[in-house]
Amino acid sequence: MAFARLEKPCDVVVVGAGWAGLSAAFHLSRRGYRVTVLEKTRKGGGRTYSFEDRQRGEQLDNGEHVLLGLCSHFRYLLREAGLESTVRFQPLLDVPVVSSSGRSSLGSKKLPGSLHLAGSVLRYGPLDPMERIKALLAGLAIQLNGPADSLDGISFAEWLKRHGQSRDAISLFWEAIGTGILNARANEVSASLAIKTFSLLLKQGWKGARLGLFVRPLSEITQEFQSFLKSQGVAFRFESPVNALDIGDSGVVTAMGPDSKASASAAILALPPDQLRRLVDNSALDSMLVLPDFDFSPILNVYLFYDRTVFERDITLLPDDFGAMVFNRTRLLSSSSIGRTTLVVSISAARELRNLPMADLSRMVEKKVRDRLRLPKAESCRSVWQPHATFLATPGSEHLRPDNETNISGLFLAGDWTRTGWPACLEGAVLSGQNAANATISASHGKRLSIPNET
Ligand SMILES: Cc1cc2nc3c(=O)[nH]c(=O)nc-3n(C[C@H](O)[C@H](O)[C@H](O)COP(=O)(O)OP(=O)(O)OC[C@H]3O[C@@H](n4cnc5c(N)ncnc54)[C@H](O)[C@@H]3O)c2cc1C
Repeated sequence: MAFARLEKPCDVVVVGAGWAGLSAAFHLSRRGYRVTVLEKTRKGGGRTYSFEDRQRGEQLDNGEHVLLGLCSHFRYLLREAGLESTVRFQPLLDVPVVSSSGRSSLGSKKLPGSLHLAGSVLRYGPLDPMERIKALLAGLAIQLNGPADSLDGISFAEWLKRHGQSRDAISLFWEAIGTGILNARANEVSASLAIKTFSLLLKQGWKGARLGLFVRPLSEITQEFQSFLKSQGVAFRFESPVNALDIGDSGVVTAMGPDSKASASAAILALPPDQLRRLVDNSALDSMLVLPDFDFSPILNVYLFYDRTVFERDITLLPDDFGAMVFNRTRLLSSSSIGRTTLVVSISAARELRNLPMADLSRMVEKKVRDRLRLPKAESCRSVWQPHATFLATPGSEHLRPDNETNISGLFLAGDWTRTGWPACLEGAVLSGQNAANATISASHGKRLSIPNET
């Protein structure tokens, strides 16, 4: 994209150093804007972070993150920062599947368009032959459906049933693929969003469907990206929570925290919806900014530690066991702990597990994985429960997702929950940041923006 450089750069405050905020800061700084990022935590990264497991001296992530080949905006940011090698893309989608009906796989072939997945669907073990053909026909209907906006009012499960999908086909095929991407079960999620997502997966061909697996702890990647932004002139203030905003008569926005404040010509609020609501309410802007009341969908990750090598694959999908995806973290991170194995069992849309005590959860998941994959008993386990992993895109929610531009001059929104056309994910987050940056730039053109002092 050719960027027009402004004669006089203006200041923008970005609140929140998750990937939406980082993307906004990147695109603004590229266009010559001076950007300050205010972040409440010590190191940013939002919902992608790592922490140290003291007992083992290992960096663990808050949850395994996966990309698809079609996540072009996120990949672009990594490329620009020289961080492309932090994600390893499969040459072709290849996901081993282990279910009560034995071993199978989901994978692509180098065939044109959506044909890349057809062979795999026709051989997919967990479904009977008639269910496989019906799954292919539903896939065809998804592609022919065109813009799916009118389907926002019904759930994806409802749409699938109308298209001849059995209960098993919904849970063992559609949810096995879709739950990790949408972080919602078929009966919880807007048909419109699910169909858009599957349509992308089919239409973008085998290259778009390839899985990208992170080979470094998430915080290392975020911090290196932040260092790159600093080298481009972006200023960061960590441990700087913003409690309230003030919009002055001159249009200057001041973001205020307990210890500091920063003023600018525009602010991009790159916060999750519940945290944004708190900020807007505190700032008495609630009557001007109508925000949706979204529910959240949890993700559970259970780390399983072994004192030997127990598993030779990178990933495996278990459709019968909450649709869990098992990641072999030792292999992915080429970990130096030779002879040991760390597996991560990732369960998206884990609402049904929310009332179980953490210790029971770990034990139950460990036992299921042990039985299904015929593994030895894990030496120890550790659960990471993220109750607010993403907003839940229930039926009717698509048209409630806000645009980046608000009706308050100088105030813009970013975040994976804004109107991106994507589910809540890294690609959606960075796309929202780019869109918010573009909206800020458009609004600032032609204006004489004052650069206020920061205190
Ligand atoms: C366990 C888990 C697994 C996931 N798996 C995947 C996956 O496999 N693939 C994928 O693409 N996506 C995945 N996601 C989703 C992905 O992580 C998110 O969509 C993305 O990180 C959201 O980025 P964001 O910038 O919109 O929001 P956030 O990351 O939430 O960033 C918001 C930032 O704002 C800061 N903040 C909040 N309030 C204030 C305040 N008042 N003042 C200053 N700062 C503030 C926060 O500290 C945070 O840093 C997963 C998420 C989780 C939790």
